[in-house]
Amino acid sequence: MSSKVACESARGRPMAEALGRSLASLGGIRSVVAPGERVLIKPNFVGPFEKAVTSFGLIEAVVRQVRAAGGKPFLAESAGFEFDTESTFRAIGARDLADRLSIELLNLDEHPHTEVPAERGPLSCFLVSTPVLEADRIINLPRLKGHSLTGLTIGMKNLFGCIARETRRKIHATGLSRGIVEVNRIIRSDLCVVDGRTWLGRAVFDVERPLGLIAAGTDVVATDMTCCRILGVDYKRVKHIRLAARELGGAARPEVIGERHDVGPVRLRGGVGAALHRAAMWSLYAGDCLCSAVSGGSVIPKVHYYMGVRPRIDRKRCDRCGDCAHVCPASAIDIATCSINAQRCMYLRCLRCVDACPAGAISVIGLRKPPAGEKREGERGWPGA
Ligand code: SF4
Ligand code: SF4
Repeated sequence: MSSKVACESARGRPMAEALGRSLASLGGIRSVVAPGERVLIKPNFVGPFEKAVTSFGLIEAVVRQVRAAGGKPFLAESAGFEFDTESTFRAIGARDLADRLSIELLNLDEHPHTEVPAERGPLSCFLVSTPVLEADRIINLPRLKGHSLTGLTIGMKNLFGCIARETRRKIHATGLSRGIVEVNRIIRSDLCVVDGRTWLGRAVFDVERPLGLIAAGTDVVATDMTCCRILGVDYKRVKHIRLAARELGGAARPEVIGERHDVGPVRLRGGVGAALHRAAMWSLYAGDCLCSAVSGGSVIPKVHYYMGVRPRIDRKRCDRCGDCAHVCPASAIDIATCSINAQRCMYLRCLRCVDACPAGAISVIGLRKPPAGEKREGERGWPGA
């Protein structure tokens, strides 16, 4: 396996061109995909936010490359634990993209899972999506972001969406970094292409910073290590990358080729606040394991909604124009009563209504709300909208 990682600029040039340059440095798409192979393209569709998901331009460029090599591409994903996958697909325009490209888009929550024994760690087995295990090739398309629990989320963490929600919950409760390493031991990316068009400090709600980077490698660990280097982060600070570098064969210093070597440094969240957040999340997932064993349900979406981020309408400022209800993908807003149906909003929380309100009557509340002054999705237009 090559530890070469091609880093190219995506600034001022189409994604297809940046991708083409990266792949050419690695020996071309035909060195990864053979004619007739079913190729799983695994994007990051974590939730209903354009800035947090893999660029549609990159996905389209990869689909075209795979087809040119004679492969049969398909897309597959399961959204973040607190989001509904199908609603996420529709909100970000992924279903429209799939139709336009005439490609299958699998909602992995609706497909079977296969029990796979774990080699190391507290969990004896993982439930892995069967279509993922059956794919001939896997092309991993992560979005480059910070993460409140792991420090960074790049290629290795992106494969989390290939695991059953039930197993993800257990991994959160028993050791996230170890779980990510084991997931990557079971599911091997044949190619990882990192969408680093911008840097996002958290997985979903944060301010974007332009980077204009695309990084591609056939070894996901080497690719993650290289992204750390480019961001000015010691990879040993990111536990799952440190463990994988030791155990999965990425220990040799990756050879960085291409034109971009100089993006960082970025600041990872740390200190007491981050440690408390990790402890709180561990308790939440551990408690949720018990809750699901007793009732079969999960309290995690509720906790994220009521404590994390949610919209609230100020009735005094609302003039009942209906614009928010018009843009709400979940039909969660009742103009007559000027209220938001929590059950409907909870699994999406897209905040489109906030940007759509001309009267400024909808505010974002909660502990994880985006920093003040952040541009939200509605100000930049949505893909597929
Ligand atoms: S109520 Fe607002 S935040 Fe909730 S789903 Fe609708 S548009 Fe999105
Ligand atoms: S868009 Fe704003 S003013 Fe119009 S109905 Fe919704 S909350 Fe009220």
